[in-house]
Amino acid sequence: MKTIGLLGGMSWESTLGYYQTINQLVKESLGGLHSAKIILNSIDFAEIEKLQQQENWQATAEILSRAAKNIELAGADFLLICTNTMHKVAPEIAQAINIPIIHIADATAEHIIKQGFTKVALLGTAYTMQQDFYKGRLINNYGLSVMTPDENDQKVVHQVIYNELCLGRICQQSKNNFLKIINKLSEQGAQAIILGCTEIGLLIKQQDTEVPLFDTSYIHAKKAVELAIFPPMK
Ligand code: GLU
Repeated sequence: MKTIGLLGGMSWESTLGYYQTINQLVKESLGGLHSAKIILNSIDFAEIEKLQQQENWQATAEILSRAAKNIELAGADFLLICTNTMHKVAPEIAQAINIPIIHIADATAEHIIKQGFTKVALLGTAYTMQQDFYKGRLINNYGLSVMTPDENDQKVVHQVIYNELCLGRICQQSKNNFLKIINKLSEQGAQAIILGCTEIGLLIKQQDTEVPLFDTSYIHAKKAVELAIFPPMK
């Protein structure tokens, strides 16, 4: 079995889910007392969030690159950055290390295409919904058609992520608001919704809606287990 590197803490509320999902899937696959080989480096999200607001992405890249290098030195075979947003600096992190990064948008897009969907809507932080590092990758590398909520709904989604979900707060009102946004996007033609923030799955589950949901944190964690247990032939 390969060793999975997790760059986590963004937020730790969702990193917890990665740890649990990866171990559960390894147990389901291998049985008995098997569990995943994981190197987790969990950083202080307050530092990163402050730099995000200042748009000091260079400083975030330096912090995350150092953390990623330590994961490599500790023996990980590949790396997962356990947040969609911070894939903004995935190219800088990739340059700092010699192990591959399993990109969350690639894992998600491959999964969506396998299920036969072509037109999806993306929920995430404002950075993820608006900037090219994520949405552009889905469109340009995978030919997906990607919708996003209107400006007001984007603000709602962004604020719930930082002011509630990353703090471990699950509010019924926010859940209702998210479900309204999801229904609106579905009525506008989205065949499925990407939960493009690793905390959204804490608020919205597939049983809450008939619109198909793609939870990026689950898909990412599952991809890691597939690679750890069934490494592709060289
Ligand atoms: N975990 C979130 C994401 O997947 C947001 C926190 C962050 O800014 O990294 O985008």
